[in-house]
Amino acid sequence: MKDVILIVEDETNIRANIAEFLQAEDFDTLQAKDGEEAITIFEEKKPDLVILDLMLPKVDGLEVCKHIRRDSDVPIIMVTARDEEIDKLLGLELGADDYITKPFSLRELKARIKAVLRRTKSGSAKAAADEILTFGTLEIDLGRREVKQQGKIVDLTPSEYAILITLCQNIGRPYSRLQLLNATLGESYAGYERAIDTHVSNLRKKIEPNPQKPVYILTVYGLGYKFGDHYETNQ
Ligand code: CA
Repeated sequence: MKDVILIVEDETNIRANIAEFLQAEDFDTLQAKDGEEAITIFEEKKPDLVILDLMLPKVDGLEVCKHIRRDSDVPIIMVTARDEEIDKLLGLELGADDYITKPFSLRELKARIKAVLRRTKSGSAKAAADEILTFGTLEIDLGRREVKQQGKIVDLTPSEYAILITLCQNIGRPYSRLQLLNATLGESYAGYERAIDTHVSNLRKKIEPNPQKPVYILTVYGLGYKFGDHYETNQ
């Protein structure tokens, strides 16, 4: 079955170009011209991926992202203009999986889409492993892609989950931001490494008993992050 991609973009030409290109690449597409329409179509059609422009009439991209994340893990690629760096990071905080800056080539967009889809699908392929990892009070069910802290389910975005899995499968091994970016996106985007910090910060808020004194996701100064091996809570 073809993956269905919802394209949310108010500029008709850009929207039509993306749709035409993706159809030629064997995707099915849906189109929304503003945030309100995006939410309606998303809820009706449940697409496999959303390409979401930030600046939109009626309801902006950040609001749409927040709305979708309330009950869906669908991959979201945010589209921003060059000078919207802060909004980009906010987009990641709200649960977007990746972002792409205008103007971008359709080839680049395709690479991002494939990387994000591969990541979400490789997650479900691991279901066969059906393994549960336990670190102190943190439990990761690889089969169900479910994370629990002190018995309570923690909702992670696909990127947060990918970072957690990468780190915890090699306890103590330091990873650079670029390596984590590669692990999450499957491709390297030099210059976007700082986005990893945002993901890690959100991840810590969700899984660390005390995010100020992390025991799971540790900072390796001057390099990146590693998974800790002592989980006594030091609050
Ligand atoms: Ca726009």
